[in-house]
Amino acid sequence: MSNLNLSADEWIATPKRTQELIRKYGIVLKKSLGQNFLVDQNILHKIVSAAHLDVQKGALEIGPGIGALTQHLAVQAGKVVAVEIDQRLIPILGETLAPYPNVSVVHGDVLEVDLPGLFAEHFGGMERVSVVANLPYYVTTPIIMGLLERKLPLEYIVVMIQKEVAERMAAKPGGKEYGSLSIAVQYYCEPELVTIVPRTVFIPQPNVDSAVIRLKVRTQPPVEVADEAFFFEVVQASFAQRRKTIYNNLSSRFFTKETKAELGPLLEQCGIEPSRRGETLSLEEYARLSGALLEYQGRTSIS
Ligand code: SAM
Repeated sequence: MSNLNLSADEWIATPKRTQELIRKYGIVLKKSLGQNFLVDQNILHKIVSAAHLDVQKGALEIGPGIGALTQHLAVQAGKVVAVEIDQRLIPILGETLAPYPNVSVVHGDVLEVDLPGLFAEHFGGMERVSVVANLPYYVTTPIIMGLLERKLPLEYIVVMIQKEVAERMAAKPGGKEYGSLSIAVQYYCEPELVTIVPRTVFIPQPNVDSAVIRLKVRTQPPVEVADEAFFFEVVQASFAQRRKTIYNNLSSRFFTKETKAELGPLLEQCGIEPSRRGETLSLEEYARLSGALLEYQGRTSIS
C-alpha cells in the first residue's frame, strides 16, 4: 500500500479539501474534459497498489487533475510524468505536488503528445514503466488503443474507466460484452478487473458506474498474425452487424456475388461453422481466419 506520510499542512484529497482547493482557484470543472476527481484515499491506494510500482519503476499518469492520484504514485514510483490538458489546473498541481521532486507535469493533450519522446526524456533510468490513471471517460478507447498500437514498452496499464467499457475489455467469447474492443485489448494485453467503484468516491459524481482494470501488456501477442491491420479489419467486419452470422458479415465485406460460394469452404477449412456469430469466435479463430482470407486474397488477385 502507498503511504503518503503527509505532515498536517500538506494537501490530501478529501471531499472537503478538494472543494476548498477548486474554490480557491475559482475553477468550474468541465464535464467535457471528464473532470470527475477522486476523493477517496482507499480507492487511490487500490489503484496504485495494482500497478506493482517501486523506486526502479516509472509511472505515466494521464489527466492528474489536481494531483490526488499523482501524490500516491510519487511515493511509490521512482519517476512520475503526469500529462494534463487543462491549463487552469497546472498552478494547482504546482501547489499539491510541491513536496514531490520526482514528478514532472506536462501540459498537453495525451492524444497529441510525442509519447516515445516523453519516454526517452523522462524514463531513461527506469526498469519498467506503467500507465496509471483515472481516465477521462470520453476518450478512454482512443487513449488505450493509442498506447497499445504505438507499442510503447509498458508493463501495466491500470486505469479507472466506465464499468461497462472495462467489462467489454475483459469479456470472453460468447457473451454480449465480447466484441472488437475485447479482441483488440486481449491481442495486446491480459486484462483483469481489479474492483468496481461506486459513484460516491468522485467529485462531482459521474452519471455512470466505474471500475478499475489492470492490463498486463504482453511482450508478444498470443497468436501469430501475418498482417495486423488485416487481422483487425476481419475482426471489425465480423461485428459489422452483431446479429448476422460470420458468413453474412464476411461475404458482404470481402466477397462478391460471384465469389461468395468460396467463403463456406474457407470457413470450414478454418474449423468455423458458417452459421456462427462473430461474438463466439476466439482470438485463435480470428487469427486463423484472417490468415486464410489473406491467403485467399493473394491467390485470387494473382490469378
Ligand atoms: N487524476 C485525477 C483524479 O483522479 O482525481 C483527475 C481524473 S479526471 C477523471 C480526468 C482528467 O483528465 C482531468 O483532469 C482532465 O482535465 C484530464 N484530461 C481530459 N482529457 C485529456 C487529454 N486528452 N489529455 C490529457 N488530460 C486530459
